[in-house]
Amino acid sequence: MAKPIVVQVVIDKPLSQGFDYLWDAEKLGCLPRVGQLLELPFGRGKELGLLINVSDHSQYELSKLRNVENLSPLPPLDQGLLRLMNFASQYYVHTLGETIMPSIPKMWRKPENWVKIPKKLQNAANKKNKEKPTAHVEGYITVDRLNEGQTNALQQLIGESGNTRKHFRAILMQGQTGSGKTAVFLNWLASILKNEAAQVLLLVPEINLTPQLERRVRAYFPNETLAVLHSGITENKRGVAWYEAMTGKARIILGTRLAALTPIPNLHAIVVDEEHDPSYKQQEGTRYSARDLAIWRAHDQKIPILLSSATPSLETWMAAKAGRYEYIRLDQRAQGAQLPKVHLVNSRDPQNQFSPGDKDRPQTKSLITKTLANAITANLQDGKQSLILINRRGYAPVLSCSACTWLSVCAQCSSNMVMHKAGALGKRSVLGCHHCGLVKPIPRFCPDCGNADLKTLGQGTQKLEDAIEEMWPTARVLRVDTDSSRKSQGAETLFQEIHDGNVDIVVGTQMIAKGHDYQNIGLVAVLDADSRLYSSDFRAAERLFAQLVQVAGRAGRSGTDGQIGGDVYIETQYPEAAVYQYLLRHDVDGFLSHIAREREEAQLPPYSYQGLVHAEAKTLEKSIQFLSALKGRLKNQGLLSKELRVYDPVPKAVMRVAGSERAQLVIESESRKLLQEVLEKIDQDLRSESQGRISKASRIRWLIERDPIAI
Ligand code: ADP
Ligand code: ZN
Ligand code: ZN
Repeated sequence: MAKPIVVQVVIDKPLSQGFDYLWDAEKLGCLPRVGQLLELPFGRGKELGLLINVSDHSQYELSKLRNVENLSPLPPLDQGLLRLMNFASQYYVHTLGETIMPSIPKMWRKPENWVKIPKKLQNAANKKNKEKPTAHVEGYITVDRLNEGQTNALQQLIGESGNTRKHFRAILMQGQTGSGKTAVFLNWLASILKNEAAQVLLLVPEINLTPQLERRVRAYFPNETLAVLHSGITENKRGVAWYEAMTGKARIILGTRLAALTPIPNLHAIVVDEEHDPSYKQQEGTRYSARDLAIWRAHDQKIPILLSSATPSLETWMAAKAGRYEYIRLDQRAQGAQLPKVHLVNSRDPQNQFSPGDKDRPQTKSLITKTLANAITANLQDGKQSLILINRRGYAPVLSCSACTWLSVCAQCSSNMVMHKAGALGKRSVLGCHHCGLVKPIPRFCPDCGNADLKTLGQGTQKLEDAIEEMWPTARVLRVDTDSSRKSQGAETLFQEIHDGNVDIVVGTQMIAKGHDYQNIGLVAVLDADSRLYSSDFRAAERLFAQLVQVAGRAGRSGTDGQIGGDVYIETQYPEAAVYQYLLRHDVDGFLSHIAREREEAQLPPYSYQGLVHAEAKTLEKSIQFLSALKGRLKNQGLLSKELRVYDPVPKAVMRVAGSERAQLVIESESRKLLQEVLEKIDQDLRSESQGRISKASRIRWLIERDPIAI
């Protein structure tokens, strides 16, 4: 009798080990290969599995093993990707199945699709052939048009050995917004793609950034198949793109964080654009950092990785300073314009405010100071566009009663319900919770005291839009936030309006500030910067600084040589705060040195490493108790020390969401290894008394996170 074929598979469940199945080669029509996607009987139902090992024996009785039922028409995932997944699973303390399975597009996760898929792919191919080539080509800067700084940068990237020798290199390219970083890395990728076998991966932070960059990439590579992967495309399109990446047909893989987990068998180089962007961190499931995984992948596959940013993360910047990464600087704006002039408007200073006697004092009260209003008027007269940012969508952040203390608090969360005027979330004005999505009609009377006089407090994009329309009645005003982009054909149509010069004043959340290369913005204003400065998260200032630089970069992109590139107004009550002072001087390195010192003093990352245990229960008390007990056990095991600090459990910043009360336990160490060991111990400990990730005794849902970016 022939030896049995036993395969080990992983599935998308928090069960630690793989499962053994029998492989009937005759029935399945082929021999097993590691990396294949399979359909399996599991319990009373079916599960999708990925084959990770083949052998001729099992620790279980062969007669008890069940048979693999079906296999997908996909080629197996490549070895490099499997190594990456193994690493991610270990490092982020999740099972291999939980790490791999969600990275596979839904289209391929439905076995009933497997027979139909070849047809689907054919259809997709036909459609692609019919796609018209892009009409206008923006931002296509050929090698001969690069300026001196860019040419040097490109030379350094290509390196002495050209692109021939395969070895790991991590390179930080730091240059102010508009310095031509994109033009440099696209030319670099072009040089790599001269090798006909090569594939390259280009990671970008957010969906709304992708269309413009996608056009730019297409302009550089009109004859290449591009695989575009982000959550804004249909599942089928994503499935096709992923397939084209794994089969090598697509040579350029462009996408957001999930694209970091794409099978790319001939990967030759990676670019992570805006490497500091927090959206590279996955916030559910296996909470990976796409940037960090990309670096690991480059190291593992012995290829170069370029991290690009105007405001690098402290981690990356320190690595470059210390010589662990190569360091390229681009310090001139490509189109000649100077950096914008930053103005800090002290909103506590009466001189900056409208006074009751002013005849131009607007009816609608808003955050716009008189100083800013005058600047906007002047900018309008110059025929330039203004961008006004406020980090809150909706009409007003909260509704309140004028007679008692009632506030529109969400019934399910410890946060306020935001008032949205008609049009955004429905036909009528509503209260909406931005945490759990609950939507309610606006009460006509105070639910607590019956008073009919309910007032809004604070302002969001909608209210600001009203105020601006009143202050500049003839200006064309456009609001850009997730609400307005959902209503129109997506954010891209709104951005196009700005590009086409159809608007004079744009009001929006920071989503307008990312990446877009507007040519006629003379003024940018940020109204509520302070609100993000004083948060409990130690990364708040770093993040705010990056956002402000990014925002400032939208101003005056296309000025002529030596001309000041527009004006940036920051309204603040604390103009003396370090983050604003460094911004005033455009001193990115100064700011990074400053926060590096602060972190070193406090032994915070990157001077230490952190892990987090999340707990969620019906009451906060239970969540805290659960974590306290965990800490107690760690203490009893003698694991707490100066080298491994376990803090007391605390409620999360937004404590209650959708009816669950959430707490967290921070664990910190200067030793990556020690932290890893302890997290693995915690994982085992909690798992042993849980079903999945819910504790059997206390019904607490728990989760372990490595390198959290929000605390
Ligand atoms: P970054 O990525 O640093 O923000 P980009 O590569 O997007 O900069 O360049 C900013 C703008 O300058 C774009 O409009 C781009 O087309 C243009 N640009 C870049 N390099 C050059 C160049 N060498 N000559 C002229 N324009 C350039
Ligand atoms: Zn009341
Ligand atoms: Zn809620």
